[in-house]
Amino acid sequence: CGIVAYVGQQEALPIILKGLRRLEYRGYDSAGVALLDNNGLSIYKKKGKVSELEKYLESNGDLKSKIGIGHTRWATHGEPNDVNAHPHYSASEKFAMIHNGIIENYEVLKKDLLQKGYTFQSDTDTEVFVKFIEDIYVHNHCSLEEALRLALHKVVGAYAIVLINMEEPDTLIAARKGSPLVIGVGEDEYFLASDATPIIEYTNKVVYLDDYEIAVIRDGKLNVKTIENVETNPYINQLEMEL
Ligand code: GLU
Repeated sequence: CGIVAYVGQQEALPIILKGLRRLEYRGYDSAGVALLDNNGLSIYKKKGKVSELEKYLESNGDLKSKIGIGHTRWATHGEPNDVNAHPHYSASEKFAMIHNGIIENYEVLKKDLLQKGYTFQSDTDTEVFVKFIEDIYVHNHCSLEEALRLALHKVVGAYAIVLINMEEPDTLIAARKGSPLVIGVGEDEYFLASDATPIIEYTNKVVYLDDYEIAVIRDGKLNVKTIENVETNPYINQLEMEL
């Protein structure tokens, strides 16, 4: 339902939590974040309000990270509970994903992945999606963005997604089809969200990702290409600030 992600020089967690609260008006049943630090990639998620997630995060001490992804879930596949909340790990737990939307052919994909030995913790279409990307990644020995690009040719449905990867700690990868995704362009920092409300207090420069586009934010640079692997020149809109 709601997406917020950050990469830059600031602490990611407060920005993500504030953003998730700004998206609360959309409605949701659970919330979660994934953060990357020297200890690796960690996911924290809870059924209920963002305030429940915040309480849970506080019990985990001081979480510092300059990159992270956050999600508020409106369940479509699998009941609202802690396990079905996003983000969802890959099987290797080296990357994780948040997803708005519905993957319509997830049952076929899941059956295939089960045959290949993948196991599933949650009942979500999203966990199938991230493990489907992983399967391509492992087999093709390609980059994660290339695996995602190939996966998007096979996935049927609607999605706005963001991936965070332990092996590329300065990189966020996003894509969309049918569900909105906005990229806020700051000074050496980027914000991703399902609408501009979590972004406008930081920057008025935004890029609206188009359907079938993949955005890679790496080393402070934004690159956008289509799922046909054609680079596009992202148009930066200037929003009117109303603070
Ligand atoms: N289909 C996904 C799920 O049920 C995402 C739902 C959403 O957009 O929040 O987990």
